[in-house]
Amino acid sequence: MKNLDHLEAWLVTGSQDLYGSEALKKVQIHADAIARELGLSTEIPVRIVAKPVMTNSEAIHRLCLDANSSADCVALIVWMHTFSPARMWIRGLQSLEKPLLHFHTQFNRDLPWSTIDMDFMNLNQSAHGDREFGFIGAFMHRRHKIVVGFWQDPAVHAEIAAWLRAACAWHDAQHLKVARFGDNMRNVAVTEGNKVAAEVKLRYAVNGYGVGDLVRQVHQVTDGEVDALVREYDETYDVVDELRQGGDRRESLRDAARIELGLRQFLEAIGSKAFTDTFEDLHGLPQLPGIAVQRLMADGYGFGAEGDWKTAALVRAAKVMGLGLCGGVSFMEDYTYHLGNSGEVLGAHMLEVCPSITEEKPRAEIHPLAIGGRADPVRLVFTAAAGKGVNASIVDIGNRFRLVVNRINLIQPEHPLPKLPVARALWRPEPNLRTAATAWLSAGGAHHTALSRALTSEHLRDFAEIAGIEFLLIDAKTDLDAFTNELRWNEMYYCLHNEN
Ligand code: MN
Repeated sequence: MKNLDHLEAWLVTGSQDLYGSEALKKVQIHADAIARELGLSTEIPVRIVAKPVMTNSEAIHRLCLDANSSADCVALIVWMHTFSPARMWIRGLQSLEKPLLHFHTQFNRDLPWSTIDMDFMNLNQSAHGDREFGFIGAFMHRRHKIVVGFWQDPAVHAEIAAWLRAACAWHDAQHLKVARFGDNMRNVAVTEGNKVAAEVKLRYAVNGYGVGDLVRQVHQVTDGEVDALVREYDETYDVVDELRQGGDRRESLRDAARIELGLRQFLEAIGSKAFTDTFEDLHGLPQLPGIAVQRLMADGYGFGAEGDWKTAALVRAAKVMGLGLCGGVSFMEDYTYHLGNSGEVLGAHMLEVCPSITEEKPRAEIHPLAIGGRADPVRLVFTAAAGKGVNASIVDIGNRFRLVVNRINLIQPEHPLPKLPVARALWRPEPNLRTAATAWLSAGGAHHTALSRALTSEHLRDFAEIAGIEFLLIDAKTDLDAFTNELRWNEMYYCLHNEN
């Protein structure tokens, strides 16, 4: 999957029969123009399909059922150009399973001051037609996105585009299978969670596989396939001499390539686009997969280390949301701090950081793994590029899933890190380390995250809203007293609204 333009959103315009066929023809022409404009926007990642203007309950119900069963439709965008009595939307909205965006716009940007008459008023009345739709949404407690603004405004396109990216990730989650090789790391709490609740609430399935089955696949990889892949490594990365052709550790690079090929073939065979492994269960694998995981992530796979299937699915969702955007997405771990400069986080992992977050040419290196007791694994080493980003963690808090997001500023280290043998990212969390870490800890945010320079907190908020899970943002506006209250109030809210 290189981009999202094989997917589509339907633009649905509401009206009623009272206006007569001439007015409804105009409504349709305007709806087609808006769909075309949105479809041509470079921001909008999917095709926008204009549907016939809706004037009665039966047609709306049928359209919603069609949307549910469409393999390509990720969302409905609705707007009421004219007045559309909202009781005719009830059956449709009760049936609709796809995400819904209420686009509160008007075809005419400006009032035609000198010529405005009642015909104009009757045609351009989303100001009150959309209020009728807003009411039924509120009455039915429907969770949907509302975007307000002129349909040619680039800022409006950007807002719709961010939400559509979240809808695409939700669409992907409906069929996502997370493959687990081995269980969660022994005794770790935060990587645990209810897999049944995840399938009900977040839609993806989490399935375990014996590492022995993966090993068998790795053994079936041919020498010719390995030859071709190590050639690709040689050409793509700065490969250290000992791993080069003729180097005394070339065999380790070949082992790493064999693991990548076997892992990739295994995941393709079972149709999984996200996976976990654990250094505690590598029986028969010569190395902990390093470069293999890094390259699979770069190709769009979700990954979570130490059996962390929630983070694997989150990384996959972030990969889908970020398709075609610059900046990348990676599995990450808050590893160690620089408490000078008002506080910075050095993020890394044992091996598994995705090269999509760097602008450097990665170095392929081999070093011992401090824990795990296997052969030295090959890994790509680099530093993440500077810029704004987000760091996101999903946890199972017992009666619900919670997505915690921190806006961050990635920076370049002031000093080289000559002895650090893993890929890394350095960032300053917003608003500062003290507030961000206090909020993160009080929310139970994990050490494993999905880090992205491509996404903003809006993508992740939209995704959480579509999924109906709790969303907590830590950013420049975060105030610890208010954040503590938000946690308490959310606790009450989710006691009252257990939506599984
Ligand atoms: Mn870890």
